[in-house]
Amino acid sequence: MSLLRSRTAVSPLRRRDLGDAARVMPTVDALVAVERPEEPMHCLRPAAIAAAARFFVSGFPGETLYAVKCNPEPAVLRALWEGGVRRFDCASAAEVSLVRSMFPEAGIHFMHPVKARSAIREALALHGVKDFVLDSAEELAKILAETGAGAAEGLGLVVRLALPKGEAVYDLSGKFGAQPAEAAALLRATRPHAARLGVSFHVGSQCLEPLAWRRALALVGEVVREAGVPVDIVDVGGGFPVAYPGVEPPALGAFFAEIEAGFEALGLPEGTALWAEPGRALVAAGGSVVVQVQGRRDGALYVNDGVYGALSDAGLPGFVFPVRLIRPDGPAPSPVLREFALFGPTCDSADRMRGPFPLPEDVREGDWIEIGQLGAYGACLRTGFNGFDRARIVEVRDRPMIDTEDPAALAA
Ligand SMILES: *Cc1c(COP(=O)(O)O)cnc(C)c1O
Repeated sequence: MSLLRSRTAVSPLRRRDLGDAARVMPTVDALVAVERPEEPMHCLRPAAIAAAARFFVSGFPGETLYAVKCNPEPAVLRALWEGGVRRFDCASAAEVSLVRSMFPEAGIHFMHPVKARSAIREALALHGVKDFVLDSAEELAKILAETGAGAAEGLGLVVRLALPKGEAVYDLSGKFGAQPAEAAALLRATRPHAARLGVSFHVGSQCLEPLAWRRALALVGEVVREAGVPVDIVDVGGGFPVAYPGVEPPALGAFFAEIEAGFEALGLPEGTALWAEPGRALVAAGGSVVVQVQGRRDGALYVNDGVYGALSDAGLPGFVFPVRLIRPDGPAPSPVLREFALFGPTCDSADRMRGPFPLPEDVREGDWIEIGQLGAYGACLRTGFNGFDRARIVEVRDRPMIDTEDPAALAA
């Protein structure tokens, strides 16, 4: 019988078992040897997440808000808290409620520019959330109507600025944000209602270029000058990159340095707050998925998780994640590597991850593969499509496959 409770695809935002600690194993290899798991296993490394949080919180020249959507697993949120994160960027009523249930003292910021009216009411009335983002006059009117609050009640309002299309792997310029002239007008319109007025942007996710923040901050400067009203907060968003095979981003310190210089160049009054909303950079290394090989056809491996599970970024977006073979018994794997593509378990032909994923050339049915850097936008995207909705969560204490705890890897 399995030592581990089965968990379905149901998001942690819908579960009721937040207090339960996941089972802890010393290493992923020990887990596979003991469990021989035939369902995907989500392996969390809370120590790696806490270390990444500690590094970001101590290195970023402002306040760190964790973007909850990236991984809302309670064990992940606890590790981030352990690492010094005290503020959370939430985008839905369920995220707000989860964070508040875990951390009564947390700062919660509702950073979705187009919110449900009920979510605004609930966030303020039930969870004391007073900071909201907006990118239109309509959303400002909605927030004011639904909160019934203003500057006197301590309302914090942040205007999201649209950026020109940039270099990020995930471009976010098309969906949210006010164009510069519109943003300036919106800052003026918002100022009288805000105890704290901010301006935010998002350069796009997995942005490899530190100068992208410098350029965005220069645009913030133009918009604030045009608005002609004082701002209290500059929020540089998320987008901080992590390493993947073949992708070695500049060290985080290089991003912090550009942000600090760009912020100082704005010449804003002493006391203006600087915020960031990292997601990926805090949690990617702290999660991996162990899949089992259920069939092999030449250079393709049929595995038990795929794009409808934790591997959606390996599908169409084509992210290449680090992989390693785990074969607890039987012949030692071949030292010769070959590049494989992976097929997920569903019947959809789109359930394919082209990789390439280098693995021992003799990989065979029954072997396990650990796929790393999946703490961000991995397990939280899984669905129950085609009945493949049984994944389990375990905490492990070994080091991540790409080890961001290595101070040399993180130094500027
Ligand atoms: C998704 C998101 C983030 C986090 O982005 P990462 O690329 O994971 O750092 C931050 N802020 C907002 C508004 C987001 O939508």
